[in-house]
Amino acid sequence: GGKQVLDNSEIIANLKQVKHKILVLSGKGGVGKSTVSSQLAHILASKGFDVGLLDIDICGPSIPRMMGLETSEVHSSNNGWQPIYINENLGVMSIGFLIDNKDEAIIWRGPRKNGLIKQFLTDVAWGELDFLIIDTPPGTSDEHISIVQYLNLTPNDGAVIVTTPQEVSLSDVRKEISFCIKTKTNILGVVENMSGFVCPNCSHHTDIFHPTTGGGLQLCKQYNLQLLGKIPLEPKVLLSAEKGKCIYETAPDSIAAQTYTQIVNSLL
Ligand code: ADP
Repeated sequence: GGKQVLDNSEIIANLKQVKHKILVLSGKGGVGKSTVSSQLAHILASKGFDVGLLDIDICGPSIPRMMGLETSEVHSSNNGWQPIYINENLGVMSIGFLIDNKDEAIIWRGPRKNGLIKQFLTDVAWGELDFLIIDTPPGTSDEHISIVQYLNLTPNDGAVIVTTPQEVSLSDVRKEISFCIKTKTNILGVVENMSGFVCPNCSHHTDIFHPTTGGGLQLCKQYNLQLLGKIPLEPKVLLSAEKGKCIYETAPDSIAAQTYTQIVNSLL
């Protein structure tokens, strides 16, 4: 049998006005991938860029909750599905808006998941965007290979890999790195999340994962990647960010906000 030819012409046509596609990847769930995706989108929008935030994490779409859009409904127009606009230059679209039964989606097999993701990439009417931030499912399954193939990434695009300092998560990250190399995806850098703990009462920063701390930096050195930033666990800050707010609004002086500034600046 010959190699299956992937038809992504409709997706390419639909996303041709997007200048930079940024995939946010993680080896496993719960490391803060969606939090990082939503804050990157907020911050880039606050700098005046036209930004889209696209959540294609079929089994655990958390962007609606994190952007305060849990009860939102998606509308379609002649151009396709309309993103939900948080403000005039920040639109959000989540696969969670379209799946009624999330428990059911978890047992879907590859082709059905891919079909939905493909339809999603083809049919959402983003219009002109400076950045499209894409929150992907954790891991490096066949789904991911399809996503990268559908998106037809160029050197203007790339991946941000999110990890936590523990070794388990870092070994998952090695798989993400090999995945990017294999699929020729440009790696923009690594974000180490939950890197230490900032006490909500006294603001003291503690390295709770000592002695594994420094794993992110080691990993980056080994693969010649940029460590974009180390974001601490900062419970108060993140609780407000989960309600759909930009960290600049809820805690402009926090370590997390400063780190996000550094991360965004290194992406520009
Ligand atoms: P993922 O998308 O990787 O599954 P999430 O972004 O949903 O992870 O984060 C998992 C949980 O951890 C969320 O409740 C989120 O608010 C919290 N969280 C993520 N990053 C931080 C942080 N730096 N400080 C405090 N809580 C965080």
